[in-house]
Amino acid sequence: MHQFGTRKAVVIGTGRVGSHVALSLMFNQLVDEIVLLDVNEQSVYATMVDLKDWTSALDVHVKIRTGNYEDCGDARFVIMTAGRHRRADESRLQMLEGTFRILKGIVDPIKASGFHGILISVSNPADVVAEYLYRELDLPRSHCFGTGTALDTFRMRRAVGNRIALERSQVEALVMGEHGDSSFIPTSHVFLGGVPLKEYIRMRPEQAHLLDFTDIRDAVRNAGADIIAGKGATEFGIGGTVARIVSAILHNEKRVMPLSVHLEGEYGQHDVSVGVPCLLGENGIEHIYELELTKDELAALNNSCEILRSSFATIQ
Ligand code: NAD
Repeated sequence: MHQFGTRKAVVIGTGRVGSHVALSLMFNQLVDEIVLLDVNEQSVYATMVDLKDWTSALDVHVKIRTGNYEDCGDARFVIMTAGRHRRADESRLQMLEGTFRILKGIVDPIKASGFHGILISVSNPADVVAEYLYRELDLPRSHCFGTGTALDTFRMRRAVGNRIALERSQVEALVMGEHGDSSFIPTSHVFLGGVPLKEYIRMRPEQAHLLDFTDIRDAVRNAGADIIAGKGATEFGIGGTVARIVSAILHNEKRVMPLSVHLEGEYGQHDVSVGVPCLLGENGIEHIYELELTKDELAALNNSCEILRSSFATIQ
């Protein structure tokens, strides 16, 4: 087995998301080497040169180059972003067929490389892709997962913070379930400045109308499509999200984030990867938090899982 190249990351797919994943990793000086892989040779080369220019301007010392799947052999991270950007009127699940054609071509070369690091998948539909890669790559689930509802959670915390004028990091709450149209916010686990939601509303009744979590959930579900309608793709937020995950692993932060991980009985679910809170540290996902959800919240999670399992069944 190869040793890890020191903090080496391979980014598969260097379009809008992949290039911003690379940029975010470099900006935070999280890796020493980034290898870019894409079927579009002209584009991947141009992206590499553009990113090298960025490192020169800011005097950042990260080795950045194009490569091939053999580079996965000693990579600490492989970040899967290949695909195409979503249209504003399209659900993420509708992208499955196109993404799946790509996935079939990348699994074997990743395996053949002897990859034994951590694979973070981003391509949509994120949960179905994460489950497929988990099943095909023979990696432990702690080392093969998707970004899931992590970005949705950052969006939600900011939205809630803005509504009630509270610093977003003090909005302790999660988006769970599908990274898509059936995501939900378990309001039984919302804390605002350390105060449980019910108690917060008792203390600040004048803000109760601002804390309509159905409305907040819908706004968060639509947030990606709104960005796509305005500029054609989302890219910065997801780049930052991947960097946050990589940082939590490299720095052994023990940070809880909702990620799309294969469930083996947690929440009564099997055969599905879905967004649930995970403890991230040097070993990847070190623990899955099984929250005590209300009946309605469990039903929402079950609904997401059913949708994802049915979607997965269409590719089998
Ligand atoms: P894009 O079209 O800008 O880039 C996709 C890149 O993948 C292109 O450069 C293309 O050449 C490359 N590609 C296609 N087939 C390939 C293959 N077989 N091997 C290697 N590279 C290949 O699209 P984008 O905006 O960067 O989006 C990429 C993916 O990320 C999409 O599936 C998108 O929906 C998803 N996404 C997910 C999240 C999330 O939160 N999980 C957020 C944003 C985007």
